[in-house]
This record gives sequence, structure tokens and C-alpha cells, in this order.
Amino acid sequence: MTVRVRYAPSPTGHLHIGGARTALFNYLFAKHHQGTFLLRIEDTDLERHVEGAAKEMADNLHWLGITWDEGVMVGGEYGPYYCTERLPIYQQYQEQLLATGHAYPCYCSDEELQGERDLAMQEGRMPQYSGKCRHLRAEQIAQYEAEGRQPALRFRVAHEEPIVFTDLIRGDMRFEEGSFGGDFVIVKSNGIPTYNFACTVDDHLMAITHVIRGEEHLSNTPRQILIYRALGFSLPVFGHVSLILGANGKKLSKRDESIVQFIDQYREMGYLPEAIFNFLALLGFAPQGEEEVLTKEQLIEQFTFDRVNKSGAFFDAVKLDWLNAHYLKAQDPASLLPIMEKILSPYVKTRPCLADPAFVIELIALYQEQVSHLAQIMTQGKTFFEEKAPYEQDALALLKEGDHRAVIESFEQGITSLEDFTAPAIKALLQTVQKETGKKGKDLFMPIRAAVTGQLHGRDLPRSVTLLGRERVLFRLKESMEFLS
Ligand code: GLU
Repeated sequence: MTVRVRYAPSPTGHLHIGGARTALFNYLFAKHHQGTFLLRIEDTDLERHVEGAAKEMADNLHWLGITWDEGVMVGGEYGPYYCTERLPIYQQYQEQLLATGHAYPCYCSDEELQGERDLAMQEGRMPQYSGKCRHLRAEQIAQYEAEGRQPALRFRVAHEEPIVFTDLIRGDMRFEEGSFGGDFVIVKSNGIPTYNFACTVDDHLMAITHVIRGEEHLSNTPRQILIYRALGFSLPVFGHVSLILGANGKKLSKRDESIVQFIDQYREMGYLPEAIFNFLALLGFAPQGEEEVLTKEQLIEQFTFDRVNKSGAFFDAVKLDWLNAHYLKAQDPASLLPIMEKILSPYVKTRPCLADPAFVIELIALYQEQVSHLAQIMTQGKTFFEEKAPYEQDALALLKEGDHRAVIESFEQGITSLEDFTAPAIKALLQTVQKETGKKGKDLFMPIRAAVTGQLHGRDLPRSVTLLGRERVLFRLKESMEFLS
């Protein structure tokens, strides 16, 4: 059997880390088995549809390195891959279900259905469709039609044995009859199929062998199994990937702002796709050895569902930062230029040095071992974005309290007359200042760093001075003299 799996997002917003992880597990599984991974867009919920979301999701998957062999944008022989382009296909199957008595038209209005639900709640019963339209007589139908009611189509949940299946991750699953809410709608009154119906027909026609999706869909699976049976389709293997948990151990809520949850946000902040790919793979999957830094190829080789945990996966932001820092360090700074330029683009107008690629590359080189993601350079390296030194309290205190005039003056003179304004020349100059003033170590470097950068801590001093440029350094040294005692 050739493995065929799919990721089937609804285009209702940005690509969420949970969705990206589902896509990734499908991708890894397909590649591990030399199978096919396809991308289908389930756009049947017209009210929640967000314009442009499908394209953006696809773009972000691509950026992550999760590419699909078949599906939207790339095509394939099982298309079309947007559900709204498949309406005539669903039509054929809904007619089959009507003809075999597995489905029936339901004329109940939203208000009537809401009334039923409210009553059930009041009486402490599980809300479930009453089955009112199950056995409509011809004259009743004629009357509804005359009133201009458009029927929805409901699936008739007949007296069934419990539904059992073996989940790839969770093992044996059992749903008792009556535990999944009575006859359910498969085609809405506007003629558009619901997710459960479209998904079943598509998974079957697209020859999907393994339906791997998030745990939130577990309750849909028994309904889908009923549709598979009614249409005479053979069942795929189902696998439900666990929830992602926030720091409080509860399911990550999309509204929880303490965790960045959308892939495009990470992308904007200067996280690397390899790091997120690696991180997402570890959200529920346990590699064979101790090693957690794994390339795409290693992950493909190791990935199996026996190593995917069925309990919730903690979203460990510290681990993500650690992984990203790891991948950042290994990059050639010039290769990070396009990402950094994007981050800096809002500031270029007011800070012209940022338009100089050589400046930005050196800025990256100075900080890439220090930050967990590139946008952090904006805060950690703020001294490079300002004309005046952004003096911090401790730096000011140091300048005011000590006896640093000789060091600052000697350094200033040296800078003024330095022929070659390079890091090695500045390193040599620091030695000259040491000789001239007799100050060394902290007494030498701290006041110079404080005066020139406004901070007591930072990156390599000679390189920082070089990057700031002679004029800015002289300007700051002069300014700092006002604080000296
Ligand atoms: N369209 C569903 C979603 O975005 C996917 C469900 C499935 O994979 O079956 O959650």
C-alpha cells in the first residue's frame, strides 16, 4: 500500500502552530513511507471564510519546508483540491444517500432547532435533533416548500452498534450509540455540504489511506465512519494527534497572548523555518535518542506513530528559543540579511545606516550568538539604532561615580587620529590607552563601553565601536564627558 495522507485546513485565519504540527506529522509520515502528502483546502464554511487565508497558509507551510506533492497550487489527478470547486461531486453522493434512505431533507428552521436545544438544556438532556423531519409525509413537504423553506439534508443515524476503530495514536476507540448527537446535517440549506460529509467524500475519492488530524476532530470520526459505511466506502486508518498544552497544562487557547501561536508571527520575529520545523516535530513525537536537534532528513527517517505520544504536548517556548538560537548561530550572517532587512524596514527612513547591507550584516554577526530570534537585535542592539547613546541607569552611574576622565579623553584622542578605523586598530588603541592611563581590565573597558554604547554589557567592544562609526563614537564620547566627575 502506498501511503497517501493529507492536511486539510479550513481557511479561517492564520496558520496556527497546532495546524502546522498536524501538517508536519502528515508530511513526516508520508516521507518516511515514500508516500504522498497532499494539501486540500476545506472551504465549505462560507461564513468563517477569510479572504486570502488559504494562500497565506500555503505560503507559510512552504516557508516551513512542509511541501506537498499534490493539492492546491500544484495540482494532481485527484483534484480539484478546494472543496467549493467539488460541489457537483458531493451532489452525486448526497443523491445516493437520499436514494438509499441514509439521508432525508430537514425543513426545521434555525429558530425551531434552537428551541429544541434550549428545551433539552432546561430539562437536563443532551441536546440532540429530535428527528422531527425523519418521516415527513408528502403533504407536509409540499407545505414547507410552499412556505419557501429550503431543506437541509440530514444523515439518519440508525440503530447502530457502538462504533469502534483503532486509532494510530490512541489505540482502541469506542463510541457508544447515541453518544454523538443524533441525526446530523450533511448538506446545509444553502446546498453546501458540511465538513463531515465533504471530508469523508474527499478522503475517499482522494484515496487517503491515513486520516491524521487534531484531537479536536475525534468526535467527528464516528459520524464520518457512518457516512463511509452508508456510501460503501472502505475505512482509512484514523489518527488523532494530541492537543497542545499551554504553561498552565490546559489546552492552548488561541486567545492566550502569553504564547505566540501563529507561524507568520514567528516568521516576522526572525525565527528560522528549520528551528520551527524541528520544534514542531518534538511536540508529541519522541526521537529515538537523546538528541533533539534534528534535521528534516533525520526526522523523516525516525518518524513513526509508535513514538507519538497520546497525551497533550507542552508548548515549551524556552526550548523553541534554545533551538532557534542554535540554528541562528550556524548561519552565515549574510544569509540572514533578507530576514533582518524586513524586521528593520519600518526604521530605515529615520535611521539611514540601516539601509546599508554591510552595516546590517555586521550587526547580525555581532548578535547572532546572543539572541534567540533576530527581532531581539532591535532591543539588545538598540545602541546601534540611535544617534545619541541610550544611556542606561547603571552605565550613567558608573560614569558619574568613578574617575574615568583620563581613559575617556585618551580614547577620544586616539579615535580622532586613528587612520584605519577597524576592529583590530581599535583593539590596539585600547592597549595604548591602557599604557597611557595605567588603567586596565574593567577600569579600562567599562567606562569606554558605557560612554560609547550607553550600556555596561554588550558585544565585542572593538567591533561595536567600528560598527557605530567614528563620527557617532566621537559625538558620544564628547557627550559622556558631561557626566564625568
Ligand atoms: N478542516 C479541518 C480543520 O481545519 C480539518 C479536519 C480534518 O483534517 O479532517 O480543522
